[in-house]
Amino acid sequence: MVIKMEEKLLEIKNLYVTYKGEKTVRAVNGINFSLDKKETVGLVGETGAGKTSTALAIMRLLSERTGSIPEGEINYKGENLLSKTKKQMRKIRGAQISMIFQDPMTSLNPVMTVGNQILESLVIHNDSGKSQKEMNDRVDELLALVGIQPNRKNDYPHEFSGGMKQRVVIAIALACAPELLIADEPTTALDVTIQAQVLAMMEDLKNRMDTSIILITHDMGVVAEICDKVAIMYAGEIVEQGKIEDIFEGKNHHPYTIGLFEAIPDLEGEQRRLNPIDGLMPDPSDLPSGCKFHPRCTHCMEKCKTSSPPIINQNGHSIMCHLYHEED
Ligand code: SF4
Repeated sequence: MVIKMEEKLLEIKNLYVTYKGEKTVRAVNGINFSLDKKETVGLVGETGAGKTSTALAIMRLLSERTGSIPEGEINYKGENLLSKTKKQMRKIRGAQISMIFQDPMTSLNPVMTVGNQILESLVIHNDSGKSQKEMNDRVDELLALVGIQPNRKNDYPHEFSGGMKQRVVIAIALACAPELLIADEPTTALDVTIQAQVLAMMEDLKNRMDTSIILITHDMGVVAEICDKVAIMYAGEIVEQGKIEDIFEGKNHHPYTIGLFEAIPDLEGEQRRLNPIDGLMPDPSDLPSGCKFHPRCTHCMEKCKTSSPPIINQNGHSIMCHLYHEED
C-alpha cells in the first residue's frame, strides 16, 4: 500500500467494539481519531476506558469468540483494515503495523531464545528474499539498537531483567521497520529508571525510522514527553483530543481532563492535597445515559443525565461536553 499526499496514515472513523458474554460489554463507543506519518498520539485514560480494545481492533486481534466491531472504519493508508482477509492481515501485522504488548513477562515465548523470537518475524515477512546471514545480521542490529549485546541472542527470556525483556519485545515489534507502532503501556511494568530509557529509545527510533506511534498510557508525564497529539478516553469515548499544547496549555478542557490533571502531584510547586476524581469508571455493560461521565462530574447539569453531549471542535481541539458551544 502506498500513501497518497492527502491521506492520513491511519484514520479511525466511528469505531465501536463490543464483547459478548452474559451481557454485552460496550468497550469502544464511536471514536474518531487520525494519525499522520511520523506523528505520535497518546491514548490516555483509566483502566477500562477502551484503550487496549482500540489497539486490538486496529491489529484485528480481538478474540473471535467474544469480540466484534459492529460499526466503524479503520483506514490504514486509505484502505479499510476491516475489509481485509485474515491472510492479508497477517502480511500487514508485524510488517507494517506492530504492537508492543503491555506485559513483557508474558508476551515472550519462554522456550525460545530471544534471537529466534526476533528472527521469526523477519522470516515470516521475508518478501525480498533475504539470506539467512542477512537476517541473522539484522537480529544483531536490532538487539544493539535496543541496547542489548548481540552475543546474548542465544539466551532465554528468563535470563533477562524486566527492562531487558521489554527491550526484546520492542526489538521484535521493530524487526520489520513498521510504519505504525502501537505501544500499549510499554513502561507500566518497568521501574522508573528503565521507563525513562525505554521512552528515550522509542523517541530515538521514531526519529531514525520515521515511525508513527500510538502510545497507550495513563501517565500524563509520559504523554508530555513524547506525544504530538493526545486523545483522552473515558468509557469507550474520546472526550477530548487535540495537539499536545491544546491539552497541556489550552484554557478549555473536558471536566474529566481537568480531573486527571488535578490528580497529578506537583513535584516543584507548592505542596497541595491531591484532588482525585470521585467514583469509578462505569460498568461497560451498563453505561449511564446521557454523558457517561455525569455520575462523577462536578459540573453535571440536568441535560447531562439524559442527552449525549455534542463534540465541539475548534482548530482540531475537540471537547465532548455540554459546557461548551460552537460559538465558544
Ligand atoms: Fe460534566 Fe455534563 Fe460535561 Fe458530562 S456533559 S462532562 S456531565 S458538564
